[in-house]
Amino acid sequence: MAEKIKEITASDYQKEVLDKDVAVVDFYSTECPPCEALAPKFEGLSELYGDDVPFVKVFRQGNRGLAESLDVTGSPTVLFYHKGTLVGDRLTGGIRRADLMKNLAMLIPEERAAKIQASVKPVVTETDVVILGGGPAGLTAGIYLAQAHIDVVLVDTALPGGYVSTTHLVSNYPGFIEPQNGYLLSHMISEQAKVNGVRFRPAVDVESIDLQNKTVIVDGHETIKAKKIIIATGSRPRPLGIPGEKEHRGSGISYCATCDAKYYQDKDVVVIGGGNSAVEESLFISRFARRITVVHQFDKLQANRQAQETAFANDAIDFLFEHEPRQFTKYGTMDMGVEVEDLTTGKRHELRANGVFVFVGFVPNLDDFAASLERDQWGYLKTDEEMRTSVEGVYAIGDVRTKSYRQITTAVSDGTIAAIAISREL
Ligand SMILES: Cc1cc2nc3c(=O)[nH]c(=O)nc-3n(C[C@H](O)[C@H](O)[C@H](O)COP(=O)(O)OP(=O)(O)OC[C@H]3O[C@@H](n4cnc5c(N)ncnc54)[C@H](O)[C@@H]3O)c2cc1C
Repeated sequence: MAEKIKEITASDYQKEVLDKDVAVVDFYSTECPPCEALAPKFEGLSELYGDDVPFVKVFRQGNRGLAESLDVTGSPTVLFYHKGTLVGDRLTGGIRRADLMKNLAMLIPEERAAKIQASVKPVVTETDVVILGGGPAGLTAGIYLAQAHIDVVLVDTALPGGYVSTTHLVSNYPGFIEPQNGYLLSHMISEQAKVNGVRFRPAVDVESIDLQNKTVIVDGHETIKAKKIIIATGSRPRPLGIPGEKEHRGSGISYCATCDAKYYQDKDVVVIGGGNSAVEESLFISRFARRITVVHQFDKLQANRQAQETAFANDAIDFLFEHEPRQFTKYGTMDMGVEVEDLTTGKRHELRANGVFVFVGFVPNLDDFAASLERDQWGYLKTDEEMRTSVEGVYAIGDVRTKSYRQITTAVSDGTIAAIAISREL
């Protein structure tokens, strides 16, 4: 452990944290990927701020009583103290360096914080390949490249794992007889990449991506220079773009059943969409919710036949065909209104429910950095059969590229192909 970090137990908490002017505490656990992702950031920042702020670590499993008394229910959790009182943000999960720095700066005088910020030394990391995105596509490419003794840095704005880590059960990934917990499956792929030597930069802020010069700047101070770039940034749920959606996203409107269905035990929800995601996720939500109304613009579902049959046989699920949502209104906690239009008559009426789930497709995670790359009409990246994009040395794999079927197996396949193609070129 770094010199300026003190590992303590509950009995020292008063002396080492509460009695100090200021302090920062990291409650960590073992076998905890986000804790591992945080450790180097915490260490690095202790070098910068350690003379001004005591840096403390507490092993959560070994100090359960203390953790519970502070309402620390997940690892890692980072707490900031000023004169024994909690201040700033309570950081958990995939913790960003920028958020740590923002909260640390609040503990010390402004001038001192500015001086420390100015003293941050830029770092240049040279590598063969930088992979943007650590879902199944990026991780697989990393495993293949590392096994071919090609140096790889994998950058992710969140924790590696991608969509699989939020998928409840994965039943179609070969090699497992029983359905696998998505989080565990992604964890195993991620660990495999790590064991093979892929260097991770998890939960970072990606400040700039220069595809021509194969340079990526993360967390404001690290420049990663590579010979090739692989884009594996996946896709995200497509918003409907109607009034009330942005305002109530995360507080009444959700895009992830695995994440949020559990909050709707014995409640009523509206699901927007009629494809595979909408129908399969409705089936999952029906384990919790009392009633689900699926609102779909067409007169029949677009999901696969088996999912349709199961959904039609489920008494908790109703269907409102040939209707489109026009507006969301929040009337109170867990009280949402969905104004829908009958596409055959043009008449509108309002559905009331405790929550809304939207499953109307996806858009690629590309923001501005891919402007120079050739894309299809939906914005996905065009590649050749070996995953090369229109810019020399830049590859695209997984859900972010043009393809007919977006699955874990197809993402893994893309990663394999790109890695083999690159290892032959380097
Ligand atoms: C709810 C749901 C259930 C699913 N169930 C199944 C299933 O049962 N079986 C199946 O085969 N498939 C399933 N899929 C599809 C499957 O999850 C995807 O096809 C697969 O995850 C795609 O992998 P990927 O690596 O391309 O992208 P992702 O898994 O989306 O990973 C992309 C990664 O890139 C990171 N990222 C984003 N932007 C940036 C950036 N600018 N810089 C750096 N990193 C970035 C993200 O944080 C993420 O970690 C499901 C999808 C969803 C949404």
